[in-house]
Amino acid sequence: MVPQNASHLFALSCTSNRKPDTLGLMRWLTFDLDGTLADWPFRHLMRPHMEPLLAQPTIRAALREEYLNRLAQGDPTRVYDWGDIHRAVREKLGLPPIFPNLFEVLAEARFENGMLYPDVLTGLAVFRSQGYRIAVATNGLAKYQQILVDKLAIPYDRMLAPDISQALKPDPAFWNPVRSEPVDTIVHIGDLLSQDIWGANGAGLVAVWIWRTMPQDWRATPVHERTRRPDLDAIIEARVQSELEEHGFVGRVRPQSPPQPDYIVADLHELRAVLRQAD
Ligand SMILES: [Mg+2]
Repeated sequence: MVPQNASHLFALSCTSNRKPDTLGLMRWLTFDLDGTLADWPFRHLMRPHMEPLLAQPTIRAALREEYLNRLAQGDPTRVYDWGDIHRAVREKLGLPPIFPNLFEVLAEARFENGMLYPDVLTGLAVFRSQGYRIAVATNGLAKYQQILVDKLAIPYDRMLAPDISQALKPDPAFWNPVRSEPVDTIVHIGDLLSQDIWGANGAGLVAVWIWRTMPQDWRATPVHERTRRPDLDAIIEARVQSELEEHGFVGRVRPQSPPQPDYIVADLHELRAVLRQAD
């Protein structure tokens, strides 16, 4: 069965040969950042500063507790504010200034090749040439992530983040800055089922799960047949469980049904094939 959202995408796209901008209707591709476009640059930069601190059980536990408290309080702009989490933990434990100054670390960041996945720059350039607008849609705060996105030279038209949308994925309100405008199609692409796919499902977007560590037998399955594989439900259930154990549930209301991707791709080359069919 073709998913409802996907058939909507095809119907909209197949009924016209126009360039999308000629009617002022935009086609958006909103991309998660970490694990989707880039190999966790913020975590990579912070690791040498944080590893010695995280090796201390008291500090590690206090950071986790502060994160979970903020998650439970539900203020989307505070959950991933690592600078403020560090401040709170330092005050709570009465520590000297042992945490890194995040803005200094970000300002000094130099990335070697390989932080962006190899298909990203070409893929995004192709999508833009096809008339798509690109949004970087991350649960990391824009005040941190935008510095990295610019240093990585990711071409984008818009940033969606908790300190812009006042919401976290999977809350559909996360996409409000884009959804509130006249749009033709919004396709969201992300690696986390519990944030990206649940969010796209709830917001009525086309949901593309990018599975960068896709096993070989899944790669061998044609893209349009993957959502029909009988083993998909068990994979989704196991991954959601493991994601929730690591990150907690980040939204306000937990959906009743499992996340349901409209497409499953290994990389942006396969996304091109999915979108090409819609053109
Ligand atoms: Mg991600």
